[in-house]
Amino acid sequence: MAIDTEITTDFEIVIGLEVHAQLLTKSKMFCTCNTDYAYAAPNTHVCPVCMGMPGVLPVINERAVAYTIMTALALNCTIPEYSKFDRKNYPYPDLMKGYQISQYDIPLSRNGYLMIEHEGQTKRIGITRVHLEEDTARLLHREGYSLVDINRSGTPLMEIVSEPDIRSPLEARLYMQKMREILVYLGVSSGRMEEGSLRCDANISVRPRGQQELGVKTEIKNMNSFRSVERALSYEAQRQIELLQTGQPIHQETRGWVETKGITVGQRSKEYAHDYRYFPEPDLPPLIISRAWVEELRAQLLELPDARRARYMDEYGLSAQDANVLTEEKALGDYFERVVAASPTSDRKARAKAAANLVLNEVVRLLKANSFSLEENPLSPEASANLLDLLDKGRITGKQSKEVLEEAFASGKMPETIVKEKGIQPPISDQVALERIIEEVIANNLKVVSDYRAGKTNALQYLIGQVMKQTRGQAKADSVRSILITKLHETPSA
Ligand SMILES: [Zn+2]
Repeated sequence: MAIDTEITTDFEIVIGLEVHAQLLTKSKMFCTCNTDYAYAAPNTHVCPVCMGMPGVLPVINERAVAYTIMTALALNCTIPEYSKFDRKNYPYPDLMKGYQISQYDIPLSRNGYLMIEHEGQTKRIGITRVHLEEDTARLLHREGYSLVDINRSGTPLMEIVSEPDIRSPLEARLYMQKMREILVYLGVSSGRMEEGSLRCDANISVRPRGQQELGVKTEIKNMNSFRSVERALSYEAQRQIELLQTGQPIHQETRGWVETKGITVGQRSKEYAHDYRYFPEPDLPPLIISRAWVEELRAQLLELPDARRARYMDEYGLSAQDANVLTEEKALGDYFERVVAASPTSDRKARAKAAANLVLNEVVRLLKANSFSLEENPLSPEASANLLDLLDKGRITGKQSKEVLEEAFASGKMPETIVKEKGIQPPISDQVALERIIEEVIANNLKVVSDYRAGKTNALQYLIGQVMKQTRGQAKADSVRSILITKLHETPSA
């Protein structure tokens, strides 16, 4: 069964994805050049190794191997005891050595899976392998000539190949989103598709429903957002189905997604596919992966989004919706947990719910309004917890808390300091005093009162506003409301 069958019921779509992720190591895969080249001038992060000079020797970046194994473990893969690098030979101007060091028949891992979810349905997508290779240089095409920037050459690149288990463009997008979430959680990839540090190619074919044999596949490239993955595959599936329906052949080829036009176009035919002449890389030793090291890396794995989501629902009693949003980005979940932990309370679930509301509604809103990332958040978890404490103790009303929060966000001060400095009065807890004010408001607004009794419900809102004005926001809105309603119903009309 496919998640989403919007396109067709007569044909089945078969998709496999190849994800490439640049690893967040400090240095390149086989040399000591710094990988932090994003804003550097062209050809400034280079050395004889990554420029492919003759006679140099590559040295394996241990951290890149560790990141690949950690990712593979997070994707439930098996790690072999022995692995090796191979040369993939092909001539292209962006490949400095004329070959790429990659992994062919004994990759760092095999046979994993990843679960995707959509509207209560879950599906398991097989992972064929996760392996390690090096990125190429970058070509900048100008009119009549091309330039080459070697900064990217030799950056560690992890390739994650899925089984052809994906059955719809929506599933492909969900898979990519889940993959990105995991990579960013692990801290092995920036996950930035728009910058090309996370890239995705897709193999797609269609076949009449019920047919066992796979149809002729095409490979789609240049999809640089989740949205373009889904759009490109929808377009391509439709294109292939139309060819089959009109009795035309599908050519096995590589096609590029043209975002601006919303179409895929043929790039090169696979009939002339390269023979890569793979052979073991003679300049590198084989990799012996000790079980002790694998266990050490497994121990370093963080709690992944799915587990965290389940824990938020179980331990904190959060709704699936809140747990989902809080775990989408690791930093947001971390912040939420620090708010909950910042002040001990007898009712942890109630505090967690209040913290989730504060973070998801107010903090996220303030960050957005000020174009701040979570790392730039001026509101410490302790300040957020302090605000919740003040509300819990009844020291401030919900209305006052908004004002205090804005001020704490702007100044970075603790909410209790702001309450003191601004001389914010405690809410009117004196029932008698509050009732007196309410009676006064009723007496002074007889026209509105009769409107209310005639069924105009917004008349109540006006009266509440008047009471809040009289009490200068020190009354709790919910008690004003209930006292007001009681009084309006018991006072006989004048
Ligand atoms: Zn280098």
